[in-house]
Amino acid sequence: QSEHSEITTCAYCGVGCGFKVEMKGEQVVRMVPWKDGKANEGHACVKGRFAWGYATHKDRITQPMIRAKISDPWREVSWEEAIGHAASEFRRIQAQHGKDSIGGITSSRCTNEETYLVQKLIRAAFGNNNVDTCARVCHSPTGYGLGQTYGTSAGTQTFKSVEQSDVILVIGANPTAAHPVFGSRMKKRLRAGAKLIVIDPREIELVSSPHIQADYHLQLRPGTNVAMITALAHVIVTEGLLSDGYIAERCEAKSFLQWKEFVARPENSPEATAEITGVAPDLVRGAARLYALGAHDHPAGKPVNAAIYYGLGVTEHAQGSTMVMGIANLAMATGNVGREGVGVNPLRGQNNVQGSCDMGSFPHELPGYRHISDSTTRAEFEAAWGVPLNPEPGLRIPNMFEAALGGSFLGLYCEGEDIVQSDPNTQHVTAALASMECVVVQDIFLNETAKYAHVFLPGSSFMEKDGTFTNAERRISRVTQLMQPLAGYADWEVTQLLSNALGYPMNYGHPQEIMTEIAALTPTFAGVSYEKIERLGSVQWPCNEATEEAGTDIMHKDQFVRGKGRFIITQYVATEEKVTQRFPLLLTTGRILSQYNVGAQTRRTANSHWHSEDRLEIHPHDAEDRGVRDGDWVGIESRAGHTVLRATVTERIQPGVVYTTFHFPESGANVITTDSSDWATNCPEYKVTAVQVLPVAQP
Ligand code: SF4
Repeated sequence: QSEHSEITTCAYCGVGCGFKVEMKGEQVVRMVPWKDGKANEGHACVKGRFAWGYATHKDRITQPMIRAKISDPWREVSWEEAIGHAASEFRRIQAQHGKDSIGGITSSRCTNEETYLVQKLIRAAFGNNNVDTCARVCHSPTGYGLGQTYGTSAGTQTFKSVEQSDVILVIGANPTAAHPVFGSRMKKRLRAGAKLIVIDPREIELVSSPHIQADYHLQLRPGTNVAMITALAHVIVTEGLLSDGYIAERCEAKSFLQWKEFVARPENSPEATAEITGVAPDLVRGAARLYALGAHDHPAGKPVNAAIYYGLGVTEHAQGSTMVMGIANLAMATGNVGREGVGVNPLRGQNNVQGSCDMGSFPHELPGYRHISDSTTRAEFEAAWGVPLNPEPGLRIPNMFEAALGGSFLGLYCEGEDIVQSDPNTQHVTAALASMECVVVQDIFLNETAKYAHVFLPGSSFMEKDGTFTNAERRISRVTQLMQPLAGYADWEVTQLLSNALGYPMNYGHPQEIMTEIAALTPTFAGVSYEKIERLGSVQWPCNEATEEAGTDIMHKDQFVRGKGRFIITQYVATEEKVTQRFPLLLTTGRILSQYNVGAQTRRTANSHWHSEDRLEIHPHDAEDRGVRDGDWVGIESRAGHTVLRATVTERIQPGVVYTTFHFPESGANVITTDSSDWATNCPEYKVTAVQVLPVAQP
């Protein structure tokens, strides 16, 4: 067997590390971090480097299967029969219940090209806009919030930019666990002297680790982010720390004056909001001064570069979109957007969540974040695709569930997402799925969602296909096919087969042809091609005739994408999810380094030796009150459900708050999370659930 190597991109997190894959024939021998990979520069973490064996794990399903009822056993069938059955069921449902009675979910694990094809299938072959993506449950508030304030939904910087930061503000993110290679880059900068502010209910590793101590840890109560960001803004406005010249030149005057008047109100001061956030006012004042001015010993005359990095601890709240806008306000008010070392940077969770959003996976947007109601954009797609498009936005995932329970949504095509394990309030999700007449799941494993499926189409791992992923810094990198698809087809080919069976022809011979179509129809991708990516290593969108050949490293340099930056008033509204005598603690959730999301991949690798269960972190005071010792089994009950975990007694979490991860289906963290969601985007409020915790016998 010939020895050779290929360049590809990690299929785990949104850092998007490049790898040189050492191969023997079609067998992967080693994944070596690629020294020329711009996102990682030769570094990698334990997931990307070692946890790729899932791709050929014995649990892979390689034969299509169908069944009439979800209580029936699966029956292995040919591709032709499975695709034919799915297509005829979808058409039957539409004939009986209308065009809008079916829809689909795209995957942030799949490539840009595959995501583009799924949304095209739904808009062109299904004939509706009932398409959504798992970004609904993570960064949809980023899309809304940054779109409203800056004009586009993406991080403003490259990862490298952090090397120029003087002050780093981390909000609701745990970079060393969830984005490890970028977390290391941030730590290097902190060790070199940058100042650090962390806003998080939990003491994440960055707060206190060897050689790094956060200058401020604002350990707020879950659900009070907006009160905190407004209090920080209050200090900046009332203590005269605004960047007046920047605001006058770059931002809308009217929206700024309205925002300034709002944040200056006494009720938004750190003293007035301390009751809500639980954080001492002097800490909030100190952190605001540090963010706006830098350290007192900072060399005079040099502008302070303050950068914000945030994660799902910002977005997964009832006020997730409001908080994103609050962050955007703060950066504009201090002139911290548009150059190296500053900016507003959402740390994207999944390898291609940025790409799945870019590719038109939302029910209201065509690729490139253009509203479906815009007749000019629609006309371009109609001409290219040869079908009329519906100008009305379709259903979001939670609306699909509601419509299913109401009897008007009966068919779902779900590609590469385990909605049963990853969406909130599992009982609600399973009831909705069980009420549908045709659920088609396309995945590499028989996941939890497949238990409710009528058709199972085997998916393909990142090793079995060509394509591209887009990381959290808008960097588009190549995914290279290393082996033949185990089930015979790559995901993009399966979508194409389904489309053809539905009567809407797709005849792509290679993903490169799909990217050519994307580039032709999406101005921000107009300069993207496989040839260029392979020649330059990667490109960053926007990438077109108006940008450098490799695209755009820093966004909003001379002006915001929307023109002038827009300030938005961020009124704090207490979440519905309140503690009571029955549910006296607040549960929040997060991730650990060795596991990844619902764990479908990492649980099937040696990484499980490091971490083989989800645990509940509880403060010693709360543990003592309940007679819970470290390692004891505890029952966790919320208004939505009940689950059982082992306890870790730790001061990393504050009294009154408990914390768990969500990597193992048996612990069922989402059995207890509620239906509460972001007012603008329906992103679930995973980060705040009122619970009771009591000792139980070992299950
Ligand atoms: Fe993969 Fe993220 Fe780890 Fe890089 S940091 S190797 S992209 S999981």
